Amino acid sequence: MSSLAPPLQDSVAGPAPYADRLRRAQAEMTRQGIDLLVVGASADLLYLVGYAGHESERLSVLVLPRDGAPHYVVPGLEAPLLHDQRDLLEIVPWEETEDPAAKVTAIAGSAALGTIAVGDELWSVFTLRLQRAMPRARWAEGGQLLRPLRMIKDEREIALLADAARRTDETWEEFLTFSITGLTEWQVRDHLLALLAARGLQPVFCNVGSGPNGASPHQTASDRVIGPGDAVVCDWGGTLEGYNSDVTRTAQVGEPSPEFVRAYEAVLAANQAAFEAVRPGVLCQDIDRAARRVLTQAGYGDAFIHRTGHGLGLSLHEEPYLVEGNTLPLAAGMVFSDEPGVYFPGQFGIRIEDTVVCTADGARRLNEATRTLRVMG
Ligand code: ZN
Ligand code: ZN
Ligand code: ZN
Repeated sequence: MSSLAPPLQDSVAGPAPYADRLRRAQAEMTRQGIDLLVVGASADLLYLVGYAGHESERLSVLVLPRDGAPHYVVPGLEAPLLHDQRDLLEIVPWEETEDPAAKVTAIAGSAALGTIAVGDELWSVFTLRLQRAMPRARWAEGGQLLRPLRMIKDEREIALLADAARRTDETWEEFLTFSITGLTEWQVRDHLLALLAARGLQPVFCNVGSGPNGASPHQTASDRVIGPGDAVVCDWGGTLEGYNSDVTRTAQVGEPSPEFVRAYEAVLAANQAAFEAVRPGVLCQDIDRAARRVLTQAGYGDAFIHRTGHGLGLSLHEEPYLVEGNTLPLAAGMVFSDEPGVYFPGQFGIRIEDTVVCTADGARRLNEATRTLRVMG
């Protein structure tokens, strides 16, 4: 969580949602036939109890039985970190010479003979130790258990995502007033990260790909010096109270070529087509198809080498994924990226990414940073 972020207004914060989320997780456990859930440091943990956890070689986990009180097994020296969770959880500290897996097994009781879900981000070494301590249990993925909860954002979560998106949009509008000719991609990256921090976001990432580097969708940045004629793909974001922003814009330095302008207009149209396809009940893969149809018809089908979008919230990438083969229907409260792109190895790349929320009557964009092609100095 950012120390720079201003405190939330009461209207946004509301009452703490964690007791309710733990109850809903237990209801989901009943539905899926899971007897125990074990979650370590992760976005899942932050979602469930308001504590992100502390990753180390010492086991520190939420232990949630399907029926019964939620426990937290924590190294004794880290117990003070759970100060705000004392009313929510039964804190079970373990001392340096004790076996934490035995503490988890004691809480599990008869669940050690049933099905245990472990959080997707729990280190494999801890999962293996728990499996040795409870050899008769069946094991399941915690992510699949929690997916139905985390995928649907409540009002407070959407307000935080919208606020994070709006602040990130502001960084782009300010960035567009700069001249970036002669800067390296690393310097552009540093600029955008600093602009995020100046607006109270915790900077998380910034990928800058200029000229041919823009054709590699996940390159971070390089020493390449940006010059006239370069397209520059910037993909960046930060968190507000743990909730992520994730925006991509592609700017042009100096005069764009007609080929670039034509491809840019096609990506913009694909972004819009995906946006307009969003409403409850539409399948995730149909949003991908909507964007892909536009790019394929414009002759760029082979250049669109990734899915159209991913969910985001407390994780930068989470369910739902807007990809061919995903027949999950959209529902109100889902939040995801709309980020078609085209990539021409050795030449340039273009991507335009917004965060979109599915509402009862269609889509709402959380990002409104300038999407039309902008020429920078
Ligand atoms: Zn990505
Ligand atoms: Zn992105
Ligand atoms: Zn993204």
